[in-house]
Amino acid sequence: MRHRDLAGRLLLEPTRPPDEAAGPASTQVCLRWPVPPRGPLLTRLLALLLGLFIPAALSVAVVPDEFDALLRRADDVKSADPRAFRSMLERMEQLTSAASQVQLEQLRYLQIYRMSLDGQFPQAIAALRELATEATDVSTRFRATAFLANNYAGTRDFAAGLDALNQALAMLPAIEDTNIRHQGYLAAAILYNQAGQYDLALRYVDITLGEPASGRSRCIAGIMRLEALFALGRLPSDARGLDGSVEECERHGEQLLSEFVRGFQARVLFNGGDAAAAARLLESRLDAVASSEYPRLIAEHHALLAEARLALGDAAAARRHAQRAIDASEGVEFSLPLVTAFRVLSREAEMRGDAASALAHHRRWAAVDRAYIDDIKARELAYQLAQHDSLQKTHTIELLNQRNKLLELESEVNKQAANNNRLAIAMLVVLLASIALWAYLTKREQLRFRRLAQTDALTGISNRLYFSERAPQILEECAQRGRPAALVMFDLDAFKSINDRHGHACGDWVLAEVARRVSALCGEGDLFARLGGEEFAILRAGADVETALVLANRCREAISSIDTSLAGPRFSVSASFGVAMAAPSPGGSLDALLIHADIALYCAKSEGRNRVSVHGVAECPRSPDGTPANSPSPPAKA
Ligand code: GH3
Ligand code: MG
Ligand code: MG
Repeated sequence: MRHRDLAGRLLLEPTRPPDEAAGPASTQVCLRWPVPPRGPLLTRLLALLLGLFIPAALSVAVVPDEFDALLRRADDVKSADPRAFRSMLERMEQLTSAASQVQLEQLRYLQIYRMSLDGQFPQAIAALRELATEATDVSTRFRATAFLANNYAGTRDFAAGLDALNQALAMLPAIEDTNIRHQGYLAAAILYNQAGQYDLALRYVDITLGEPASGRSRCIAGIMRLEALFALGRLPSDARGLDGSVEECERHGEQLLSEFVRGFQARVLFNGGDAAAAARLLESRLDAVASSEYPRLIAEHHALLAEARLALGDAAAARRHAQRAIDASEGVEFSLPLVTAFRVLSREAEMRGDAASALAHHRRWAAVDRAYIDDIKARELAYQLAQHDSLQKTHTIELLNQRNKLLELESEVNKQAANNNRLAIAMLVVLLASIALWAYLTKREQLRFRRLAQTDALTGISNRLYFSERAPQILEECAQRGRPAALVMFDLDAFKSINDRHGHACGDWVLAEVARRVSALCGEGDLFARLGGEEFAILRAGADVETALVLANRCREAISSIDTSLAGPRFSVSASFGVAMAAPSPGGSLDALLIHADIALYCAKSEGRNRVSVHGVAECPRSPDGTPANSPSPPAKA
């Protein structure tokens, strides 16, 4: 039954005692229930309501469910029965220790409703703002915000009211409970009717009635519709069509609201030319209207009745009802009932021929009518200003949003640019690293290939190709520095027979072992190479003939001391050495040096092998076949 609190939404003006009520905006149905009603009927009603609700509330042990029940009941009667409502609030206030956070928030909402009921709008507004911000329950936040809109309207601050309404409407998607959602729609309808925005009010009425709404919501929506249509001059032409609205309100105990609907019914009849039917209807409700003690309703009822009676030519009754309407409007400066009443009195006096009285009433009528129209215009203007203000705010917010978006985009672009730069740098680094790696690998491969090309595969020392490349450079350097150079060439003795006797593999082993041993005797600057087959050469820069001889003999000894048993059978290995010296002057060729060393080598061979022969030192003995000395000749077989 939460929809019952919709009556609270209808609290549009500060509450005043019944005799002070009926505020300036008298076309509007002020649905505020009067301050605790007086009189037998109302006393009985109160007693009935208290009898129904209070004992139940007071007698039970309170558990959360019961607190909920109390909340629901209080919500239910808060507009129809303020006294029972207050008692239930007091009861709940004693039981707060048993309540949950959400229940306490709902209680807070009802307490604020009570404030509003007492006309304490500024306090209610402050409390609602707090609740609308702090409540954990979204429904309570929504209700507080929507009620805030109506309370602002109560202080005629339409700008703030519209703002609060917009906030409430923005929360609608989060509100699942249809009844609570309808509270928002109806708050909008009430606010827009007050601000003279009847089409907008009708739109929210239609939304409410377009959904399955509670009877209470339909009752209030119906009245809001009639109020808007009346202001727009579009009341329906068939009064019977409003029977449903009357029943709807009566069925939900909203007697006061149903009387307002009947008032509209009478107006429809009157506007349709049936003043007699209008008068009959209004007269049949006189007692009920009088017992409501609601001045606004009484004033409207009598003013309309006066109009109807005047139209029927019953001047005395017209005057009487006009006066009742004026009496009920005590303290009210201007209102539609007052406008109607003074107009009726003026016309009636005129019909009687009482010109002085007619003029006096006419003046009052004109004054009240002007004030009334001015107020309507002022409210419309207030709305337009509020709307303008809200639009301006929206535009400012949009502008700020767009600026923010622009800044965000800018920062995004900058971020992207920074990322791109980083990416470009990273790519460059990767590219450079790849190039460096590629260059390194390529270089390494080149070096590997070059080494392979320069190295003898079997022995691991330089090959003939490299020797013939490098030796001329060494000779050139020595020549330039005026240093001598010695070439020590040697050839293994009777190597063929080693192969023949022990196999080619054994021969290979001997070649590798020879290279290893001789390498160990060579210095860093020596160029040691296998020239081919079983023939080797060492080119030593800066060596004189003695040094070369020493080197050659050490090598010869190292070779002859090779222990072949490591490779297989034991046999002796030896080599014959030829030493040739390059002159420490430019012009000497490698070829000549090689020939000289070769000659000396053959000399060593021919002198019996396993020896060192220096070119040009002693004459080489002639070979048996008569080959001249110092010329290469095939060595004797071992
Ligand atoms: P001399 O004392 O006169 O030098 O006699 P020699 O047998 O050493 O000379 P010869 O020129 O008759 O034979 C050289 C042999 O060396 C012939 C060849 O088969 C062998 N030879 C050449 N290169 C290799 C090689 O790489 N591995 C092996 N195992 N034998 C080789
Ligand atoms: Mg040879
Ligand atoms: Mg040989």
